[in-house]
Amino acid sequence: MPMILLVDMDAFFASVEQSQHPHLRGVPVIVCGDPDRRGVVTAASYEARPFGVHAGMPLQEAKRLCPQANYVEGNPEKYVEISLQLLDLYLEFSPDVEPFSVDEAFVGLGPEAPGLTEASVVARRIQSEIRTRFDLGASIGVGPNKLVAKMASGVEKPCGLTAFDSQAFCAHFWPLGVQEMWGIGPQLAERMRAIGLATVGDLARAPDGVLQSTFGIIGPQLKQAANGLDDTPLTPYHRAPDAKSVGHEVTLPEDCDDSGYLEGKLLRLADQVARRMRSEDYVGRTVAVKIRDHRFRTVIRQKVLDAPTADGRRIFQAARRLLRANWKGDALRLLGISVSSISKGADSTQGSLFDSDERSLRLRDALDRVRDRLGEASVVPLGSLRHRSRLGHVPFGAVKPVDVAKPPDGRRAREVKRAPDSPGGTARAMKRADQDEPA
Ligand SMILES: [Mg+2]
Repeated sequence: MPMILLVDMDAFFASVEQSQHPHLRGVPVIVCGDPDRRGVVTAASYEARPFGVHAGMPLQEAKRLCPQANYVEGNPEKYVEISLQLLDLYLEFSPDVEPFSVDEAFVGLGPEAPGLTEASVVARRIQSEIRTRFDLGASIGVGPNKLVAKMASGVEKPCGLTAFDSQAFCAHFWPLGVQEMWGIGPQLAERMRAIGLATVGDLARAPDGVLQSTFGIIGPQLKQAANGLDDTPLTPYHRAPDAKSVGHEVTLPEDCDDSGYLEGKLLRLADQVARRMRSEDYVGRTVAVKIRDHRFRTVIRQKVLDAPTADGRRIFQAARRLLRANWKGDALRLLGISVSSISKGADSTQGSLFDSDERSLRLRDALDRVRDRLGEASVVPLGSLRHRSRLGHVPFGAVKPVDVAKPPDGRRAREVKRAPDSPGGTARAMKRADQDEPA
């Protein structure tokens, strides 16, 4: 089951001020409007909280509780700018990023992180990137859905990492009061207590009929939530809906100078970018590769193709040439591909490249359909899988692509359609993806 993270910045506004003004570090900081006027606390640093100061409190009261704090006038533009930069950082880990507030975002992980353990590794890396690049702390909740991720993120702060499956969620929250549930405010909590539902566990076990008649449709929904169940979809945010380019980049699990592994990653990126272009009927003519080495030096190089394309192999071939020409062999921490000069239209390279092999076109479309159903990593170009396997990162336990016998040609496209639910089917689909890879 794919996992979801909720990244919540710790005392965001106050921490930004502390990271940018060294004299504010380690001391109570209270961010507000004009400190000389009446108003409320916008954010309180962790050093100010033991004094009882919290966001939303009248400034007068904060000054009484913690007169020695540094009162800093907030700078909303700055916080929004950093918030956008944080979203860009998350996008290096996954294309599925949904901002939830100025300091919180959901990050959906694909089948590469099928369990809490793998997802927690990604969460730790995100935390350490946030620390390295912004000198800020974040607490992250990990769960099988948005509700569990969101509620887990609040369990340990600051710099917390809490991973719950539905069972662990119940073990933690059932003994707590109903007001601890996400979505239950003070008034609703009061009404629940009035009918004897004091804890999250009480709500989780309450009869549907009672909940429905007392609270309407939301009653049974809250019961589902109290059981750690939630099917709210993650809605990825695209910074530019009318894209001028389509791209994807990844921060590598560790700095890497293995060209085989890097080219495998590149293949995977090209495949993802091409599929996104096809899903929105884009073709593009300029392929760019972005590489960032372990010293954060970033190089972007691009190449104009003969004709616009949305074909992963053509994009990969161009990207690989760019990588080979511009990479000096230093260990890399980030790789990215983007395609620009894009326009709506059919892939005119299809005819010239594949007239002789119409099957491969049908295959590609079939693979796209499989991926639309199963998610991004359900069908991976074998090249990228092989390199990952060498590093011990194979995410598909049941799949041994090298053992799969080549099926008779006539059956290829048809078989892909029934690949979805059996591991063997996925293996066959991947094997076939490989047959169409460039040598
Ligand atoms: Mg926060």
